[in-house]
Amino acid sequence: ATLFAGVPEAPKDPILGITEKFLADSSPMKMNLGVGAYRDDNGQPVVLDCVREAERRIAGKAFMEYLPIGGLRDFISESVQLAYGEGHPVIADKQVAAVQALSGTGACRVFAEFQKRYMPGTKVYIPAPTWSNHFNIWRDAGVEFAKYRYYQPASRGLDFEGLLEDVAAAPRGSVFLLHACAHNPTGVDPTPAQWRAISAAMKERGHFPYFDMAYQGFASGDCDRDAASIRTFLADGHRLALGQSYAKNMGLYGQRVGCLSIVADSARDAAAVESQLRAVARPMYSSPPLHGALLVTKVLQDKELKAQWYKETGSQLTWNHVTDQIGMFAYSGMSGEMVDALAAQHHIYMTRDGRISMAGVNSRNVDRLAQAIHAVTS
Ligand code: PMP
Repeated sequence: ATLFAGVPEAPKDPILGITEKFLADSSPMKMNLGVGAYRDDNGQPVVLDCVREAERRIAGKAFMEYLPIGGLRDFISESVQLAYGEGHPVIADKQVAAVQALSGTGACRVFAEFQKRYMPGTKVYIPAPTWSNHFNIWRDAGVEFAKYRYYQPASRGLDFEGLLEDVAAAPRGSVFLLHACAHNPTGVDPTPAQWRAISAAMKERGHFPYFDMAYQGFASGDCDRDAASIRTFLADGHRLALGQSYAKNMGLYGQRVGCLSIVADSARDAAAVESQLRAVARPMYSSPPLHGALLVTKVLQDKELKAQWYKETGSQLTWNHVTDQIGMFAYSGMSGEMVDALAAQHHIYMTRDGRISMAGVNSRNVDRLAQAIHAVTS
């Protein structure tokens, strides 16, 4: 027998395996609706203008040196502020331990290792369903996992009672993985009131939340609103961990840019925890990559680029009323001035009360309509 005859073929990844099948299909009609990556109208990856500009600004600079084990200081500081809120007391009081991570996956992986070492005997509770890689990550770190109820098929919504029961039943001090916003794969998020109840229930049981935030800015269009879940938990006095990814919200998929932070009780504890996060990272990958972290830092540090990024991440308004309302018309909520601007700048005409006759919208003009509405409302 050959040396590796005993090695079986590994099962295909449930998400990336789909891309392999897609690439192997030669039909011009093929569509890839598997992987979570934003594409333009031609199916190509989207590069944000703010990122292009940041790239231009760092071009030619000498930046091939290693980063420290923990990553780029300014990047970490900007990331933590983006998540917890500028000037949040836990930041001012130096309670946050943080390292740059290999995107959201790497943040989860380093945390799982930390949990294994310093939260011995705890399980991680993962929502049912969740992003399929969560299981692999904690399994490889040697942490036991269990599921908690999340999605209720009958209502196509949150199984709020089931979730609270599972929070109450888990052993004290368990780790609960929560999707900070835009839950993958269901798209079902708790309401602000439900988040408050979940936070209270977890506090009562002494559970420790790990927030996985892969879509900040892409749930509501507003980075602060999308971080509200985390800030609710902080306001309730939780200690917590957070994994941030810039793969989607800055379109930096292959750059592997993310951040892992842990909020501790004191500056002393945070410093010790941070040193242990570096101790996990060093033998695993030595230090994180530089280029993407520099790009994110440029965008977040520069007022203009940051404003541009906010604009590019999407509408800050909610539009669910368009699909919730019935009949031929969508009562859009646009003002008379916005309607005037649509006519003057975009050749689009409707009554000044913002009423859109959906009968005039078709597959050829809907994209331009959406862009024009975005332009006059943002
Ligand atoms: N967590 C969730 C919930 C995700 O959906 C994703 C991306 N699919 C990730 C983490 C991590 O992605 P990445 O490692 O590319 O940041």
